[in-house]
Amino acid sequence: MSKTKALLAAALCVLPSLSSAKIQIVTTTEDLAALAREVGGGQVEAQTIAKGYEDPHFVQAKPSYLLKLKRADLFIQVGLELEVAWAGALLTSARNTNIIPGNPGFLDASESCEVLEKPQSVDRSLGDVHPLGNPHYWLDPANGRIIASRIAQRLEEIDSSHAAEYRSNLAAFEKRLNEKSREWALLAQPLKGLGVVTYHNSWPNFARRFGLRVVNFIEPRPGIPPSPAHVQSLEKQMAREKIALILVEPYFDDKLPRKIAEDTGAHLVILPPSVGAVPDIKTYFGLFDHDLKLILGALGKSAAKS
Ligand SMILES: [Zn+2]
Repeated sequence: MSKTKALLAAALCVLPSLSSAKIQIVTTTEDLAALAREVGGGQVEAQTIAKGYEDPHFVQAKPSYLLKLKRADLFIQVGLELEVAWAGALLTSARNTNIIPGNPGFLDASESCEVLEKPQSVDRSLGDVHPLGNPHYWLDPANGRIIASRIAQRLEEIDSSHAAEYRSNLAAFEKRLNEKSREWALLAQPLKGLGVVTYHNSWPNFARRFGLRVVNFIEPRPGIPPSPAHVQSLEKQMAREKIALILVEPYFDDKLPRKIAEDTGAHLVILPPSVGAVPDIKTYFGLFDHDLKLILGALGKSAAKS
């Protein structure tokens, strides 16, 4: 073998390992990472910054995230200022041109999704952490479908050699989502019209999808701690409207919700709003399976109907 041929052969041996390098995805939340894995399959490695058990509004931005962002091919955020307190600064410090807004490696998942509670004008004066509309929109599977499709499109753009694979992963995800959505709709039938109180305003999309009616919040406004006067009027309202269910995100102190449940006789459910909040919830499908079962279980309704 000539020297040139030997060199060429050596180069060809290296090529497969280069082409098999996985697309590096960094997401702000585990829900987005779970959706990215559904459509990216074996071609991607998706990592999240906020863990499912953390309050996504307030995450301690560790320097180790910078390394992940520096190497990322695609960055995906929930947007609508959910991560405004921590993600923007990380992104700037990472100095990775792939993932700056406007480039294909930056994806704001809220675009194209159905966002509820969009305000007429932005008012931050009261400390509201939802100034641009409700950012917990991934809690409706119909939005999950939109997010998955946008991630697939972006992956095709970044890594066109695997476009067919991303399209087929998306088709499989959509098929499964159709099946599961029918199953969840049946499961949720006993919840139609049920009034609930939630700690934070995380659940409008979920409530609308599954027929719950959120009548009030333990926080008077998103991100504002409850005052004794608010709690008192909330308890009066719950008694008046016979509210039997309080939903609390796992990262809030449950002392006050427990007291309210005791005072009013309502059931308290610690309800995870994200994949990874508890070890049981490993996928986007698992999130709705888990949450519907928890609510039905608390109400003593059968979760076995499907
Ligand atoms: Zn929120």
